Amino acid sequence: DGVKVDVLVIGAGAAGLMCAITAGQRGRHVLVLDHANKAGKKILMSGGGRCNFTNLGVTPAQYLSANPHFAKSALARYTPADFIALVEKHRIAYHEKELGQLFCDESSKLIVRMLLDECAAADVRVETSCAVRQVRKTSEGFAVMTAKGEVHADSLVVASGGLSIPSMGASGLGYELARQFGHNLLATRAGLVPLTLSSKHQEHYQDLAGVALPIAEARVGKRSFRAGLLFTHRGISGPSILQISSYWQPGDDLRIDLSPEQDIGEWLVAQRAARPAAELRNVLGDLLPKRLAQRLSELWLHSRPMRQYRDAELRDMGAQLHDWPIVASGTEGYRTAEVTLGGVDTDGLSSSTMQSKLVPGLYFIGEVVDVTGWLGGYNFQWAWASGYAAGEVV
Ligand code: FAD
Repeated sequence: DGVKVDVLVIGAGAAGLMCAITAGQRGRHVLVLDHANKAGKKILMSGGGRCNFTNLGVTPAQYLSANPHFAKSALARYTPADFIALVEKHRIAYHEKELGQLFCDESSKLIVRMLLDECAAADVRVETSCAVRQVRKTSEGFAVMTAKGEVHADSLVVASGGLSIPSMGASGLGYELARQFGHNLLATRAGLVPLTLSSKHQEHYQDLAGVALPIAEARVGKRSFRAGLLFTHRGISGPSILQISSYWQPGDDLRIDLSPEQDIGEWLVAQRAARPAAELRNVLGDLLPKRLAQRLSELWLHSRPMRQYRDAELRDMGAQLHDWPIVASGTEGYRTAEVTLGGVDTDGLSSSTMQSKLVPGLYFIGEVVDVTGWLGGYNFQWAWASGYAAGEVV
């Protein structure tokens, strides 16, 4: 009894829809279920409403995973150019913002509409507001109990995403299904997320909320990202911090280069020659945002007129500003994180098809898998590529 399909996809997000389109185009009878009231909610809110749908510079090196080789095969077979061709076919205008990041000119709604139009053209059915209650393995495939009755499918694709932004429909269902079918799970944590500060640093810098550096370099160990930095009411954010947050773990030493594009020590020495009577804090205010320069001067630079500093002192000060030891205490967590690190261990999956090595016919794609990209369109490219890889074989 109940509905019978070839392929049931759980999750009408980026990965699930791409998988469904690809399978539908092969003539498979596909149903996509989502418990949210509409498809692609994260796509809609992505990229500030303009969806940074891919990145021209995608390589496997921009992904975090316990197995850094896992993503290679799928990324090579569905490239940014493939997705761009789809966007162009639908006449969606886009532009490159920076660093290869492609955004819609108008709205991310166009990307969701494009995916749903492709689903319709491939005879894929998409059912929203339909919760998945339980999944059983049967002799022929899978029986899935949903809010709207039982569905039988030969193949089951889990595309239910990660834990970030619970208010947008995120749930742990994908992880529960992985566990139910014997898959190993790697610890999950929030990624691409603002950092909170130690209570002392929070006290020192919280009233700087809103102050931004157009370019800073955030470093943890050998990993570094050069981009904007923003002070928030709870700590620090901006692209450099979001990027490094995926590599930072509690206890790790975080360093910020406050002016990575020039030698601050040499600049200070030159400033002393040019304006010996100026106070250090005012001079620094020409290099850094004024409120930050003021605060750093109060806290540890003890501002005096420039002529009172020796070369060595200015160079030492420069070195400190290139290696500012701000102490993070944690992250803002899944409430504001763009992605979830960790998840279904890739050891249990085929890298060319995303099929489970334990349960034939079961697939995991997208963010639920332990593959997480940098900020800048990499996460959607993984969703498209892993969705396509599974869609070709389900
Ligand atoms: P999702 O797109 O999250 O889709 C999962 C789907 O499964 C959802 O529709 C959900 O409702 C459904 N689901 C969950 N649980 C159940 C359940 N129990 N039953 C039924 N359905 C269920 N990445 C980029 O590359 N570029 C960007 O510009 C970008 N901006 C972002 C902005 C924000 C604010 C956030 C939060 C993320 C952003 N990301 C961006 C990351 C990107 O959105 C995700 O990596 C991507 O959506 C993952 O695709 P997915 O299909 O695996 O999961």
